[in-house]
Amino acid sequence: MADASDLVLYNTLSKKEERFVPGHAGRVNMFVCGQTVYDDAHLGHAKNYINFSVVARWLRHLNYSVMYVQNITDVDDKIIARARESGRDPIELARHFESRFLEDMESLDVKRDVDSYPRSHDYIEAIRVQVQQLLDMGYAYLLDGDVYYDVSRFKGYTALSGIRIDELARHRIEPKEGKRNPYDFALWKAAKPGEPSWKIKVSEAGKTAALDGRPGWHIEDTAITSVLFGPQYDIHGGATDLIFPHHTNEIAQAEAASGMAPFVRYWMHSGVLKVNGEKMSKSLGNFVRIRDLLKAHSAEALRLLVCSTHYRKEIDYTEKLMAAAEKRLRYIYGAFCVFYNMKESSGAGAADIDRIAGDLDRKFTAAMNSDLNTSLALTELCAAIESLKAFAESHEAADADAKARASEKVLELAGIFGILRSGAYKTALPEDARRLIAEREALRDRKLYMESDAVRDRLLGEYGIVVEDSEYGTIWYRNG
Ligand SMILES: [Zn+2]
Repeated sequence: MADASDLVLYNTLSKKEERFVPGHAGRVNMFVCGQTVYDDAHLGHAKNYINFSVVARWLRHLNYSVMYVQNITDVDDKIIARARESGRDPIELARHFESRFLEDMESLDVKRDVDSYPRSHDYIEAIRVQVQQLLDMGYAYLLDGDVYYDVSRFKGYTALSGIRIDELARHRIEPKEGKRNPYDFALWKAAKPGEPSWKIKVSEAGKTAALDGRPGWHIEDTAITSVLFGPQYDIHGGATDLIFPHHTNEIAQAEAASGMAPFVRYWMHSGVLKVNGEKMSKSLGNFVRIRDLLKAHSAEALRLLVCSTHYRKEIDYTEKLMAAAEKRLRYIYGAFCVFYNMKESSGAGAADIDRIAGDLDRKFTAAMNSDLNTSLALTELCAAIESLKAFAESHEAADADAKARASEKVLELAGIFGILRSGAYKTALPEDARRLIAEREALRDRKLYMESDAVRDRLLGEYGIVVEDSEYGTIWYRNG
């Protein structure tokens, strides 16, 4: 049995692996930075959301009751700029891309892991409350209709990023005449003509000011989580490029506003996805939309590709990598199909099958509990499926109950990654086709390629079965 207390997570704040202990026994509140909806989501986003889908699934597998919240940023400079370029209303544009984003998340099978997708738009009052708290405590100040956070007031500002305070000047800074420190950031921005805006009232040193504007980027996350989780919660996730300034500023806002630390117990960051060594981004124009990729490839194969690498590592995406993931997935389906469709006979090989399933459960759990080592867990899963296939090839029949137990275990653990979701493994390969595949392998071993190609053509023509060779051995799948 999986033991929840054995889970260890790498915490970006302490820069160490730590035993996972949530604030309330058995419950996990998890927030992951969500999408700014001004364009379609790309593969870089897919990696991040798949990574945290697996985190949520693993925590639930360990019997935690997980509340997973991911915000939708629908008030933002990029949305306003895009709306202006295309002559559209910014709110209408945000709704349009939000619905497409949610369709993409559905296609990736990550949407069902998320309990709530709150929009920043709906949290203006919570944002106002937090801005007021920061003004009251002297962490914030008004400047020409904007509100800024005075970074010099917050001790430990650089703890998460590890960036030295004198190095901050080199990072992205919002220029503004009159700021107390160059790296002070906006909590609230005065609206420019034609921009969507909200009217709020705040007071500074007893004087009330009426502001017409919109929230800064960082405050929406802490306002949303303060409403949904309270001042402190368990896991905050996002890609590594959000550590500074975004997550750094979230800590400064939340801990100053509530007076409680730590704001978040475990900071988890996923490595970015690159293409040819460069980060996939809209500004570089090197991005592949999720919906375009899924026209040619399955979401399961993309999930397999992502889970083949530890979440904290970067992925350098290539078409070759995607093709390899498709092959590996087909191999997994084919191998599992052989075992799944074995003949049944009471008692046959029960102990052997149970041992394979038991070993899988133990090794898979150890790998996942070690900061979600999905690449190792996936290797263990494939090795177990391989052993079950080998059992099927060397035995006439399997005990029905043991077979059902092992199949259930394989499907349960494969489900953490989101693979073996289609029922394609349920249909057994026709006996004659199996014989032909084995025959073709024997011909290839003897380097009789013309003859083996003829068998391959027969499999396709007579049975609609495509046969390919891979590093795992022969893979086959039904055409179309
Ligand atoms: Zn965020």
